[in-house]
Amino acid sequence: MILEISTTHSPATDLGFLLHKNPSRVHEAEMNFGNAWVFFPEVSETLCVATLMLEVDPVKLVRGRGGPAGESGLLAQYVNDRPYTASSFLSSAIAEFFSTAMSGRSKERQQVADTPIPLTATLPVLGCRSGEKLIRDFFEPLGYQVDVENLALDDQFPEWGSSAYYRVNLTATCYLKNLLAHLYVLIPVIDNNKHYWVTQDEIKKLLLRGKGWLESHPQKELITSRYLAHQKSLTREALAQLVEESDDPDLEAIEKDAEEERVERPLSLHDQRLHRVVETLKQAGAHRVVDLGCGEGRLLSLLMKERQFQEILGMDVSVTSLERAAGRMKLERLPSKQAERIKLLHGSLVYRDQRLSGYDAAAVVEVIEHMDQPRLAAFQRTVFEFARPQTVVVTTPNREYNQLFVGMPEHAMRHRDHRFEWTRAEFEGWANTVAQVHGYTVRFEPIGPVDDTHGAPSQMGVFTRGA
Ligand code: SAH
Repeated sequence: MILEISTTHSPATDLGFLLHKNPSRVHEAEMNFGNAWVFFPEVSETLCVATLMLEVDPVKLVRGRGGPAGESGLLAQYVNDRPYTASSFLSSAIAEFFSTAMSGRSKERQQVADTPIPLTATLPVLGCRSGEKLIRDFFEPLGYQVDVENLALDDQFPEWGSSAYYRVNLTATCYLKNLLAHLYVLIPVIDNNKHYWVTQDEIKKLLLRGKGWLESHPQKELITSRYLAHQKSLTREALAQLVEESDDPDLEAIEKDAEEERVERPLSLHDQRLHRVVETLKQAGAHRVVDLGCGEGRLLSLLMKERQFQEILGMDVSVTSLERAAGRMKLERLPSKQAERIKLLHGSLVYRDQRLSGYDAAAVVEVIEHMDQPRLAAFQRTVFEFARPQTVVVTTPNREYNQLFVGMPEHAMRHRDHRFEWTRAEFEGWANTVAQVHGYTVRFEPIGPVDDTHGAPSQMGVFTRGA
């Protein structure tokens, strides 16, 4: 893994003084992930290049605490992209070798350190699963000319196409300390795979290195959340402090928005999910819909607002939930024309039920994980063999995302009544089999913000009969 920093400042050899490294020597440090070196392959009056090179030792990584996050399986622990792509290891090495330069001090060339000079940083390999645009969105607002080249999966086999890795060149006339701070923060943010467990201390590092630029960066929310490895409470805390530190005249308004967001946050995922289900049912052209396991009727209320749905049936095994649903929709006070559209039914999804026949579409929102797995087989027959609507929309949590929830213990489930929570592969495996057995096709969609490694917090399967 390599980072090159070069200047054409005159004399270019000042770069050695700015970095506090003698260009005629090779500087070495042992790091907890392997070894790192700084050397100068090119030193002249007109061009000086400093190279920071890291050799990441996968065996050391596995023995230490920080394996690559999100990778599972023994092989992946040893064979992965960590030795080759720019990542948080590079930031650790920048801090190790260039801490004085990052603070803006230079014993012998303070005047040059205090002057913007022409600088180029080159990262021969930077992984970015979100694509080239993200790299530009992060660096361009900071004033860099950004040249990005997508690397082929294999030069020998161009037909294999391109990889998620890029060669990146950043050029600007700027302070060296700023370039180092931008790289220090943004490389791990782009790579999105921190090599250590993120704690409260990270907020301090982020505020220190982000000072003077992050608070006004258009992508500051995304940068902060990724830097703090998507830990929501840390992210909120950091953003609040960033705002406090800036001179933004709308400070109060921003803080109020953040507060509102904090309050709404627990609702928003379920709201997003319900709206997506409504949209999907609308697009399927359904007029008669049934909400299986309707609970307290939140989806039913949304369905009632759409005229397309002429007949709506809510079914649940819990009488208390059905009573609450009736209260929520004020069923007793609805004008008769509206009241005719909706019916509530007490019943269980693990028994064949004639009353569920003849509907265009069924929604099964966050219900399957409440059933014991052996009962799923009976549920499948009730819905896909007997009721057999044209469209069935099933949602369920994505277990892979759980580790991004702050304070959630490992192996815990989101709800005490959940009997299981599936990964994306587990859900898709189940759904594909169900579709195949019962003559449906199924497509999958994520619900909520998608994390590159862990996917979205919730997942949806949309089954279509006989398509
Ligand atoms: N769909 C609602 C509720 C989800 S909670 C929503 O998204 O807000 C799960 C619901 O499934 C509960 O109301 C529970 O009573 C219901 N449920 C669990 N097992 C069931 C079964 N076998 N038959 C019908 N409903 C069931």
